[in-house]
Amino acid sequence: MDHRNPDTWTPEFAREIERVREYVATLHAELPRWGLVVWTAGNVSQRVRGEAQDGSQDLLVIKPSGVSYDDLSPEAMVVCDLDGNLVLGEGAPSSDTAAHAYVYRHMSEVGGVVHTHSTYATAWAARGEEIPCVLTMMGDEFGGLVPVGPFALIGDDSIGRGIVDTLRESRSPAVLMRNHGPFTIGRDARAAVKAAVMVEEVAKTVHVARAGGPLVPIEQHHIDSLYDRYQNVYGQH
Ligand SMILES: [Zn+2]
Repeated sequence: MDHRNPDTWTPEFAREIERVREYVATLHAELPRWGLVVWTAGNVSQRVRGEAQDGSQDLLVIKPSGVSYDDLSPEAMVVCDLDGNLVLGEGAPSSDTAAHAYVYRHMSEVGGVVHTHSTYATAWAARGEEIPCVLTMMGDEFGGLVPVGPFALIGDDSIGRGIVDTLRESRSPAVLMRNHGPFTIGRDARAAVKAAVMVEEVAKTVHVARAGGPLVPIEQHHIDSLYDRYQNVYGQH
């Protein structure tokens, strides 16, 4: 089976692709629902693991470029290889596909990626300012501050490289790409969507907090125990 050629797929793999197209279409509806996107901006992708251990046969499912959120059926979702080439589906993949693919190529544990221009998170990105860890929910979800990634233009690997280089140095599943907006990762697309919702929420709350007076930092050892408890105990039962 050559994963880049749908004609060679086994029925099981074809069904798995259909399942992920449905899942990714459903998750796209979460972005307008949580107020994270306007017009056609924003995208969710999920990795489909192939047989090769090195991930070279993996694929990703993402939304096509410039399609309205009202028209995001499972059949509209496109399938690409991890070089961003279209494997299955109609229409051009999202213009952010190269960045998603770069993350999957370089972070094997990542199964989902989300990108939005949500207002408050993007406002911090516009200032090139990391969001300091001043809320227990930030310790839980992000394990510390939300970092800022470099300025990068679309068209080559520089956005993907900026995301990966920044997130590798951090426990945060969210990075604010400077002058651009948030990218989030997760073990699957749902976890990455959750991180996109949470980064907007904390960006808004910390913004409002700072308008009222100085922020109070949380001591590092408290952040560590919050993160440890939330990631290892909470929600597992
Ligand atoms: Zn963007």
